Amino acid sequence: MKKNVVVFNRLAPDLVDRLAASFNVVQLASSADLPEALAAGPVHGLIGAGWQLGRTQLAAAVGLEVVSSISVGYDNYDLDYLNECGVLLTNTPDVLTETTADLAVTLMLSAARRIVELDGWLRAGNWRGALGPEHFGCDMYGKTLGIIGLGNIGAAIARRGRFGFGMRVLYTSNSPKPALEQELGAAFRDMDTLLSESDFVCVVVPLNEHTHRLIGQRELGLMKSSAILVNVARGPILDEAALVEALSTGQIRAAGLDVYEQEPLADSPLFGLNNLVCVPHIGSATHETRRAMAELAVQNLEQALLGETPLHMVNPQVRAV
Ligand code: NAP
Repeated sequence: MKKNVVVFNRLAPDLVDRLAASFNVVQLASSADLPEALAAGPVHGLIGAGWQLGRTQLAAAVGLEVVSSISVGYDNYDLDYLNECGVLLTNTPDVLTETTADLAVTLMLSAARRIVELDGWLRAGNWRGALGPEHFGCDMYGKTLGIIGLGNIGAAIARRGRFGFGMRVLYTSNSPKPALEQELGAAFRDMDTLLSESDFVCVVVPLNEHTHRLIGQRELGLMKSSAILVNVARGPILDEAALVEALSTGQIRAAGLDVYEQEPLADSPLFGLNNLVCVPHIGSATHETRRAMAELAVQNLEQALLGETPLHMVNPQVRAV
């Protein structure tokens, strides 16, 4: 008998068809419909992205074997609860690494060269003569790049910085990375030293209880007044109110954000800041990469439900019990 799969949020029609060849598939557009779909019968697999799926949302689940997330980050799931219930969680690392690193560099350069601010200034008809220092930006080439979290994406950003922009690379991570130190000439620093020595600081750690509000008023206070902060990881890693204060008082030069404490972000004190470049969580949002992520998530789901070993398991230990 075919197993039952619920697709949440969005999946390309041809991938839904591919799943439908092996499973009974139901698609949900709103998270409000999930409890009813789960209560209607056993649901063996869930696949999608972006929904908060914790104890409450999954309380009605019967027979659930796998949640296949179309993302690398999995902070929107209650991993302890999934472990308790023996539900496998799979994700989609690697295929989004280079695209997300591209966005981090875009944010660094945009903030450094004031691209969004000067685009608006030009379109408003302000360009009437030669530009003075009040419109100058700062160089990225040859500066010091501090990576907080030298994992897949952090290393891809560091490579761009080192080999594309001749930057000196500093990093913090849970554990030292000797191979990357060798490749990139990178040097380990504790977090406070990294913040005080870097001209560009990139945040690329997962969101968890250790990284929640990792960067707040104290940490921003350690940064150079000429420094630029970029966050492409998760919003709650950064204290947004402290960032608004740091940007409006000139504590740091500028920032680039892809992620926010609350998403979607409709209005915010951030919007009033000229020295902030902000985009709506588009780290992996290219046609090619979103397609690769969706294909990988479908493959993870198929493998989990058909008794094979999925390529990317977050909690493989649940399969051993
Ligand atoms: P990854 O390969 O697992 O790398 C994460 C790195 O963070 C690891 O090097 C880890 O160190 C380090 N780390 C973890 N906790 C730390 C801490 N408390 N202090 C310092 N370093 C710490 O993950 P990834 O693929 O690079 O992705 C990183 C995160 O980016 C994801 O979790 C996701 O939330 C976010 N992301 C966002 C977008 C977007 O659209 N904006 C796209 C993709 C990913 P160790 O290796 O030593 O443990």
